[in-house]
Amino acid sequence: MEPKAISNYAEETIKTLEKQGYHFVGTHKHSAVKTCLWLRRSIRGEGNCYKGKFYGISAHRCIQMTPSIFCNQSCVHCWRPLEAFNINTGTEEEQVVWDPPEEIVEGCLKEQKRLISGFKGSPKTDKDAFAEAEVPKHAAISLIGEPTLYPYLKDLIQEFRSRDMTTFVVSNGTNPEVLREIRPYQLYISLNAPDEATYKKASHAQYWTRINESLDEMGKLKGRTRRVIRVTCIEGLNMINPTGYAELLALANPDFIEVKAYMHIGYSRKRLSRDAMPSHLRVKEFAREIAEALTALGYPYTITDESEISRVVLISSNTGL
Ligand code: SF4
Repeated sequence: MEPKAISNYAEETIKTLEKQGYHFVGTHKHSAVKTCLWLRRSIRGEGNCYKGKFYGISAHRCIQMTPSIFCNQSCVHCWRPLEAFNINTGTEEEQVVWDPPEEIVEGCLKEQKRLISGFKGSPKTDKDAFAEAEVPKHAAISLIGEPTLYPYLKDLIQEFRSRDMTTFVVSNGTNPEVLREIRPYQLYISLNAPDEATYKKASHAQYWTRINESLDEMGKLKGRTRRVIRVTCIEGLNMINPTGYAELLALANPDFIEVKAYMHIGYSRKRLSRDAMPSHLRVKEFAREIAEALTALGYPYTITDESEISRVVLISSNTGL
């Protein structure tokens, strides 16, 4: 039997996502691009996102995209419609037909250009920023889904690089073998639990051993790529056991740790109450506990930055990149 394209069995969800601002690119509709609130602000000279503050990324020059709207986890805090895009739920004949990297990158660049064209005539637009936005410099491969499920991720990164663009890859860490072979400019792994039992509650998946392997893999990449672990804090669920987090973080020994509040948005509102969203102060306190636990283990880390509006705190390694 011919494998089906995603568009054959998820049309309704695709329509919903399109209404929410996701723009699908490529023949088989497994890749998407979306402009964010911060791009709009940045192109008007009204501010930049926390990635700008922490890592020097200009939001108006950044393409937010994914090569896989599918994921293999079902995290409670995910703002995506999980049921429709869990790669494990498809039968064999419903396997995805994957588009080649060049088609995806071309599609994203073209779509981003079309999306920002509306800013050109606006009196609020900063003309220099608009000119820069027409030539994106960064691709955040993180929009929705799990990018390591796309079988040509290494080549996709290379496609962006050949266009003089840097890449951020945000992974859930379930495919250590992919992390072993890719070299994005900045690699993120999400860590949402200090132990296996909490992981199962948060992510409804069985990949704890593989996530540990990925953390270990990240440890070996020191000096070869910038490495970040993101901890998404959910009140009442995973803001526990800072020492447990520290022991796992020590495996990866990342350059940076982002401790960030869960945001009560999108489809996650169906699974979590508003109370699950911690305040910035609470996030900062938890970040301090993690930094102290790491330091006690012999891995010195310090809080170096924060963005209150995004409820995120940056912890940096004291031993340099
Ligand atoms: S790993 Fe990321 S994309 Fe997948 S379900 Fe969890 S939050 Fe959503």
